[in-house]
Amino acid sequence: MPTVLVVEDERDIRDLLRRYLEREGHSVESTGTGAEALRMLVDHQPDLVLLDLGLPDIDGLEVLTAATRHGSAVIALTARSAVEDRIRGLQLGADDYVTKPFSPQEVVLRVAAVLTRTGNQSADASASFGGGRLVIDEARHEASLAGVPLDLTPSEWGVLVALAASPGRVYSRSELMNRARGYEFAGFERTIDSHVKNLRRKLGPDAAAIVETVLGVGYRLGLERDG
Ligand code: CA
Repeated sequence: MPTVLVVEDERDIRDLLRRYLEREGHSVESTGTGAEALRMLVDHQPDLVLLDLGLPDIDGLEVLTAATRHGSAVIALTARSAVEDRIRGLQLGADDYVTKPFSPQEVVLRVAAVLTRTGNQSADASASFGGGRLVIDEARHEASLAGVPLDLTPSEWGVLVALAASPGRVYSRSELMNRARGYEFAGFERTIDSHVKNLRRKLGPDAAAIVETVLGVGYRLGLERDG
């Protein structure tokens, strides 16, 4: 059963969408704030996010970026006048958008279409590194070291995934900040150092060889990608 996360601060619209989607057999989670949406992306791994771009607390585009990073499909809900939002949303990877006011039936049909279109993408195999030592499954948001699951904060996860995107390549702190964005959207470059420190603590005794420091430049993954 596909899980749909509805992020919409107008309660009536949110409840209406929930009812229609549940009637179609979707498992539905919903929230009215961007901050909670970011948490729910991690907790619920939704297949699709119906995202109002005009949220009260944070920019809906931040949530959009985080959702696409998590592998969720996104349909953006925008005000008729917000053409720029819509364009930016599509640039950032939204799969479709619906302009307010909309008919819930139309939204339901678009949800079905996008889920069909993106259905196979979540079957992405997990990636392993260092001869199976480190395994990262982005779609399931899981990582393990020597078979032991790592319990990472969103920021630590963001750093690890960013480094693993290109093992051996050195990433500067600002690059890591940008790449981990969506997991952590407030902070300075120096905070990367503390995320790395915490991540290493969880990686155990060989941590410094897994996440290597390149003096004066930044960090890199010290394990080669398998296969
Ligand atoms: Ca709104």
